Amino acid sequence: MNVSAQAIDVRDLHKRFGPLEVLKGVSLSAKQGDVIAIIGGSGSGKSTFLRCINMLELPSAGSVTIHGETISMKKDGHGGLTPADRRQVQRIRSRLGMVFQNFNLWQHMTVLQNVIEVPVHVLGVRKDEAIAIAETLLRRVGLYEKRDAYPAFLSGGQQQRAAIARALAIQPLVMLFDEPTSALDPELVGEVLSVIGDLAREKRTMILVTHEMKFAREVSNHVVFLANGVIEEQGPPEQLFGAPKSERLKKFISSIH
Ligand code: ADP
Ligand code: MG
Repeated sequence: MNVSAQAIDVRDLHKRFGPLEVLKGVSLSAKQGDVIAIIGGSGSGKSTFLRCINMLELPSAGSVTIHGETISMKKDGHGGLTPADRRQVQRIRSRLGMVFQNFNLWQHMTVLQNVIEVPVHVLGVRKDEAIAIAETLLRRVGLYEKRDAYPAFLSGGQQQRAAIARALAIQPLVMLFDEPTSALDPELVGEVLSVIGDLAREKRTMILVTHEMKFAREVSNHVVFLANGVIEEQGPPEQLFGAPKSERLKKFISSIH
């Protein structure tokens, strides 16, 4: 692994679903410590972009490089990945912490079990060690007292904070957030943004899809506006929000406020 390389380097990414080309050549790179916000209307391809980075979706063309390792995307005869590529995808995915809009906690596991599951059963961390790390993370997100609770007994904000702890537990090189607060009641948004803001201030590398424009402006150092599967405009937050150039972006920003 080349630690001096870009944390993430995506080149000319295309993704189609049948006749629908959702990503039409998106290139983006993140250095270590970058916080990149991705904004754009519903259906513009934001989730698909994140899902292609961690190979939850297979890109149709283009390349994804994580810390110097380019993901091979040779298909087997059936459009799936070859076994060697599958192992590579697993390895790379284990370096990316993903937080979804709908938390996606395992409902039959307690908060603590959710957080230690991948470290213990996929990454081979000793259970007592994984528990110690999980407890530290749960303290950080303010959920230590809830460690033995099942997700159904938590508020949305608590569930999302648990999901963030779970993503951090794999000690990811990059955190990917897909609209982490858009499923929350308004009064619960702040507690989740505060945890994400702390991570940004620690200079953790992250890519954050969000509709929280004020937050994006505060925590990111680069903003990307996706429209119709291409990057319509990008730049530092002051420029993108303060002096947008494209008509489409101007319209989008005014529609959100
Ligand atoms: P966003 O996150 O910006 O709202 P998405 O990436 O979820 O947008 O979706 C972009 C487009 O791709 C939408 O038109 C959506 O319907 C389509 N799409 C997403 N996932 C699939 C899929 N698995 N199969 C077919 N179409 C999909
Ligand atoms: Mg989405």
